[in-house]
Amino acid sequence: MAVEEGSALLKELTFQLAVTKAMLQTVELDQILYIILSGITHGDGLNFNRAVLFLAWDRRNELRVTRSEGPSNGEEAHRIWEGIKAEKLNLQSLLDRYSQKSSEPQHLTNQLFGFSLKLNEVRPMETLDAVQFELTDVISHCVATQKPFYVNGVEATYHDLVTGRFLTFKNFACVPIFLKDEVFGVILTDNFFNARIIRADEIRGLSGVANLASIALERAMLYRKLKEMAQVDGLTGVFNRRYYEHFLHDEFIRSKRLQRALAMIVFDIDWFKRCNDTYGHECGDRVLRQFAQLLKDNTREGDMVARYGGEEFVVLLTGENSGEGALSAGEKLRALVAKTAFAGFDAGAITVSGGVGIVYPHEDFETLFSRADSALYEAKRAGRNRVCLYASPEERD
Ligand code: GH3
Ligand code: MG
Ligand code: MG
Repeated sequence: MAVEEGSALLKELTFQLAVTKAMLQTVELDQILYIILSGITHGDGLNFNRAVLFLAWDRRNELRVTRSEGPSNGEEAHRIWEGIKAEKLNLQSLLDRYSQKSSEPQHLTNQLFGFSLKLNEVRPMETLDAVQFELTDVISHCVATQKPFYVNGVEATYHDLVTGRFLTFKNFACVPIFLKDEVFGVILTDNFFNARIIRADEIRGLSGVANLASIALERAMLYRKLKEMAQVDGLTGVFNRRYYEHFLHDEFIRSKRLQRALAMIVFDIDWFKRCNDTYGHECGDRVLRQFAQLLKDNTREGDMVARYGGEEFVVLLTGENSGEGALSAGEKLRALVAKTAFAGFDAGAITVSGGVGIVYPHEDFETLFSRADSALYEAKRAGRNRVCLYASPEERD
């Protein structure tokens, strides 16, 4: 093996080891992606000028730019290289740099903000011998062929229709990122500033990194799912009681700081046991799901709907700080339930009762639920299908 090739391989392996270590330390996807792209562009890593990651992450079927690394012009490129010469590529320095840089704007990401490519509309290019490429065709080709490729001496351009600006890539390579057997991302890298020629053996290093990115993404996806499962009630899809308790705690601290009151509604389905006993548990479950959805669809964006337990749900009204306002929100929801046809029932057959509680910043937040609950008890006692506002014992007399 030639000395030069041996040292390139050593660099590749060192870089892959750094990424692997980072992945074992954290599940924070953005941090891992930063390390991957930095390694691709670092002189001690794969030594490319710039790197861009396109992923179908938030929109499952559409590639968008997720992260990028690299200078915005030749002058900056030169400055970075000078800095890099003095600095070795190791995990700790990358992690340190990430904490300084993570919130900085990524100029390539901004320039490619308008880029989008539907995964089911990709097609391979007929030839790689063109004199000029469109970026969309290049990325599309990589997804359609599911293979890495590189082109030297020819430009690929992206035309942003909103800003009217052109972005050019030169001496570029693309590698696909897989999730299971499907391509769901592409790393694009280039040597725009120094026009260094890409060699065939460099694709091996890029592919190795793309594989690590696939593993990192799969882990991050699982983590996101687990987190969601820990917060959401499996039957109804609204938040569970545990999450509600966290949320209430944080919300109360916020209200205290802002010197605002905090309001809550507790709903309980009327005669629900009878519904289960007469029509079966399965039918009861459908009513629960539909009621939860109705609450979600008819509350404000910042409000929080949770299943407190059984057929009891809470709605935290984050933007409401008067008892009357909260009562009228509760009343609106109750009335809506009363005219809705629930699974297998006529409209009006399923009704709910609600209790509204409110706490003020100088009070204890645990009293919020007990107030709403005692108002709910009042509503049940007064005949159900109604919403009551908590009144202190003095007010009641
Ligand atoms: P009230 O008007 O006083 O609220 O009467 P109710 O029958 O609704 O009151 P109760 O608390 O006695 O009944 C609640 C019922 O909710 C009993 C329980 O079987 C049912 N339940 C609790 N969790 C679930 C669930 O996940 N699915 C179904 N189908 N039923 C549930
Ligand atoms: Mg109940
Ligand atoms: Mg009930």
